[in-house]
Amino acid sequence: MKQRFGNMIQENLPLAAHTTFRIGGAARLAGFPTSEEELSAMLLAAKEEAIPYRVVGRGSNLLFDDSGYDGLVLFTAQMKRVVWDEGGVWADAGVSLTALAIEAAKRGLAGLEFAYGIPASVGGAVYMNAGAYNAQISDVLTYSRYLTKDGKILTRTSAEHGFGYRKCVYQKTGEIVLGAYFALKKGDATELRTVCEKRMASRREKQPLEFPSAGSVFKRPFGSFAGALIENAGLKGYRIGGAEVSEKHAGFIINRGGATASDVLALIAHIRAEVLERYGVLLKTEIIYIENPAHI
Ligand SMILES: Cc1cc2nc3c(=O)[nH]c(=O)nc-3n(C[C@H](O)[C@H](O)[C@H](O)COP(=O)(O)OP(=O)(O)OC[C@H]3O[C@@H](n4cnc5c(N)ncnc54)[C@H](O)[C@@H]3O)c2cc1C
Repeated sequence: MKQRFGNMIQENLPLAAHTTFRIGGAARLAGFPTSEEELSAMLLAAKEEAIPYRVVGRGSNLLFDDSGYDGLVLFTAQMKRVVWDEGGVWADAGVSLTALAIEAAKRGLAGLEFAYGIPASVGGAVYMNAGAYNAQISDVLTYSRYLTKDGKILTRTSAEHGFGYRKCVYQKTGEIVLGAYFALKKGDATELRTVCEKRMASRREKQPLEFPSAGSVFKRPFGSFAGALIENAGLKGYRIGGAEVSEKHAGFIINRGGATASDVLALIAHIRAEVLERYGVLLKTEIIYIENPAHI
């Protein structure tokens, strides 16, 4: 891989530096393609050489194992083409969703205000159907382009995404999102920016943004909120190693410094057991733990 792709491939890349949790060992190989063609070539090379691979956007919903990833981690960060038109915007997978949302607001294009403050890439946001304030990616996505496992580039319309709450067909297919087109409506730039800023202020007030985390650890259970159940179970501030249930928002686990993936996994197991015992609710994780393929 290294010989073939040169500087686009790095070896032994510390994953902690590339995830918002600041946790995880090293990736044996890390690829930074700048175009669809380069990404496709890396994917096919990995397949040829039987190297396991995983795609990563901004690493804001991930927990990599302490032993790292003995394979190829494909980062979309360098795929960042953005094309605006009157009806909306095309954004490559690696584009920052928050940067896109604020630029849309500045241009007087409405629809992405909900996304301001979600530290996602466009690809990761489509994969997760990311959302906030009763809106989500599926409300604005018209189509996406994706790379199949055998290197073909295809297009999928919104209706073909199987969107649901934090659910999208890409979670099943393992295909790679190359980018998406979002349909936006005309709005007032000043008003849209004010909405974005208010939402960011609300995030700062309610969420522990001063510590590394991967956002809400659990999905919203039917009829309640994970944070409220965890708080009522008396778990705010509960700590295992460097991982702690945030005092500010019990739905977040924060890295107080030196947290390991094992600490976080043990804390998740403890929270789930406590909440199940007290309230009969089995919490499902929203954050994604990526096992080291060498251990599977
Ligand atoms: C402080 C904080 C606040 C947050 N607030 C919210 C919120 O309000 N709403 C919300 O929904 N989420 C929130 N999150 C979680 C997170 O930002 C989202 O889940 C986001 O969609 C993840 O995007 P990413 O680019 O970081 O994906 P990553 O974490 O890099 O990856 C997540 C998953 O997507 C896959 N993936 C990434 N890129 C691609 C691609 N191009 N093609 C196919 N698969 C891909 C990965 O393999 C992985 O399985 C928050 C996180 C933090 C840290």
